[in-house]
Amino acid sequence: MGQPAYRGAQIATWIYQRQAQSFEAMTDLPKAFREKLAESATVGYPTIAHKDMATDETVKYLFDLPGGQRVESVYLPYAERVSVCLSSQVGCAAGCRFCATAQGGFARNLTAGEIVGQLLFMQSESNRRISHAVYMGMGEPLWNYANVIKSLNLLHNEVGMSLRNLTVSTVGVVPGILALAEENLPITLALSLHAPDDDLRSDLIPTGRKWKIDEILTACAEYAAKTGRDLTFEYLLIGGVNDSPEQAQQLAARLRAKRLQGNVNLIPFNYVDTKEGFRRPERESVARFREELEKAGRTTTQRMTRGSAISAACGQLRRTIALSDVRQNTAGKV
Ligand code: SAH
Repeated sequence: MGQPAYRGAQIATWIYQRQAQSFEAMTDLPKAFREKLAESATVGYPTIAHKDMATDETVKYLFDLPGGQRVESVYLPYAERVSVCLSSQVGCAAGCRFCATAQGGFARNLTAGEIVGQLLFMQSESNRRISHAVYMGMGEPLWNYANVIKSLNLLHNEVGMSLRNLTVSTVGVVPGILALAEENLPITLALSLHAPDDDLRSDLIPTGRKWKIDEILTACAEYAAKTGRDLTFEYLLIGGVNDSPEQAQQLAARLRAKRLQGNVNLIPFNYVDTKEGFRRPERESVARFREELEKAGRTTTQRMTRGSAISAACGQLRRTIALSDVRQNTAGKV
């Protein structure tokens, strides 16, 4: 718009430090410029459609986007830190059979502004500083690569968050993992593995037909080698499907074969009423699964269910407009 470069810094300060909700409010910008900006861009928080708070103070938000679409975010306060769970897309194309978001299919990518906007809104409602964010809401972050990278940089450079406190979770998009390895961003990468063999994995996660476990773990090993950072492996436990001690041994062996260090985060299935009839694993089989992994020298954590009165599993709120699960592992880290 022909403005000097320092105007960019002024606008960023208004948005990220002063929480401006309109260009009109940016009083140190020339009036004509503010009007021109308002014609071509928007600023301000996303519109809230629904909000639910659990007794443990976990808060689930449903946001309205232009065009009538909706995404979810979760606010997760812990004793020593506050984390949020962010959506990266409206819907998702991965089609995971256990996931509520997948049931509605894919609509569109979120812009970097819409991703960061979720956090800015939750920050505006909290008197504690949000220090951590996980990209574990709706969508596949690595299929919205450019906007996700841009949002990570904004959270770091403008909001002031540490990159180490930002976690991107992927279904295993191999080209995205390899590209991320080149970005030189010390974020945490989490892989949703969920099965130790390709037959089962591609049954649960249709995208698994495209990238085999071996190929995904090779990309993870390359990521770890390039960045010097261990990944986290997420393993969703579904009763009678992928929770046997043999499957735990197989999982440990596959990770060891690729010399992957990294923690395994066990996530008991959070009930979604899909036609599959999946159920939560028995408490004993979760303990046994964990024991097998630890016997094989693998550190594990287990996600606790929080906010049982509200529905916080991926896509559940949008699906039911109620609220439920949230993430906390036994080490107290997300
Ligand atoms: N697409 C990314 C991030 C979004 S999903 C990914 O696949 O990692 C975040 C995590 O929630 C994933 O590990 C996903 O498999 C898990 N998840 C989805 N549905 C779930 C359910 N019903 N119960 C528990 N975890 C679920």
